[in-house]
Amino acid sequence: MQILDGKALAAKIRKKAADEVAALKNKGITPGLAVVLIGDNPASHTYVKMKEKACEETGIYSIVHKMPDDISEEKILETIHMMNNNPNIDGILVQLPLPGHIDTRKVLDAVSPQKDVDGFHPTNVGELVLDIDCFVPCTPLGVMHLLDEYDINVKGLDACVVGASNIVGKPMMHLLLNRFATVDICHIHTKNLKAHTSRADLLIVGVGKEKLITEDMVKEGAIVIDIGINKTSEGQIVGDVDYENVAPKCSYITPVPGGVGPMTIAMLLENTIKSAKARHHVS
Ligand code: NAD
Repeated sequence: MQILDGKALAAKIRKKAADEVAALKNKGITPGLAVVLIGDNPASHTYVKMKEKACEETGIYSIVHKMPDDISEEKILETIHMMNNNPNIDGILVQLPLPGHIDTRKVLDAVSPQKDVDGFHPTNVGELVLDIDCFVPCTPLGVMHLLDEYDINVKGLDACVVGASNIVGKPMMHLLLNRFATVDICHIHTKNLKAHTSRADLLIVGVGKEKLITEDMVKEGAIVIDIGINKTSEGQIVGDVDYENVAPKCSYITPVPGGVGPMTIAMLLENTIKSAKARHHVS
């Protein structure tokens, strides 16, 4: 069994990103990221702080638009339009979840597809489906980078994605299909989860349920990618896979923490640099 070390790979990508930013700065270009943060959800604040710190370390300019919980949808849309038209901003990210009175789809759709570094705009979603170069959501993109780093070719593999959200499971499914894996996708209404997971050469889980995947649900020698983030009653961060018992059966597995998590932020930096290059016509 080999561990897929996302922490090490993310550090490597972040170093490369810093070098790329330095080269862009020599050409008079400073990549810029704008984050829209609404309300006081502690997890959202933590994630945004991590993103700000990563930008700072990489040399990317970043600005956070903090707004109160009761902000109007109109004000959020106004801020996004302002950022769409700001030449110093290459990437716009709306930290989710948004408060209940806000139409999340409407807000995400307001982000210019050219600055949509999270890959949530319908234009980028459609381009991903069509396998056209576009902004791909950071977490599933990070998983693909991790597989590539360890020379894992997914072509022809039986893959199973558990979790079918717009930001994790669905884009993950398309990325795998675009590389010619045979993909099964499961969700809360899947009748017999084990029947699907136990057939998979490559099992990717992004649900948010501690120990959802147990040893008996995993094929011998499978590659297991755990995207889930859960806090145990003891305050420990764990994934969706019963790591201790599943790991001995796997050919490769991601730990939590230190697997997919660090890759997500590294991909955000990559997407922001990609946008800056495209907007300034630099290869
Ligand atoms: P979500 O709640 O939007 O979606 C969860 C998905 O899991 C849904 O499709 C749902 O149908 C499915 N599901 C729920 N219970 C299930 C069950 N018992 N069996 C099968 N499917 C089930 O969540 P999300 O935003 O997609 O996030 C999923 C997990 O990934 C969370 O733990 C989240 O914290 C984590 N996450 C991690 C990163 C990272 O950087 N590592 C990034 C994003 C999300």
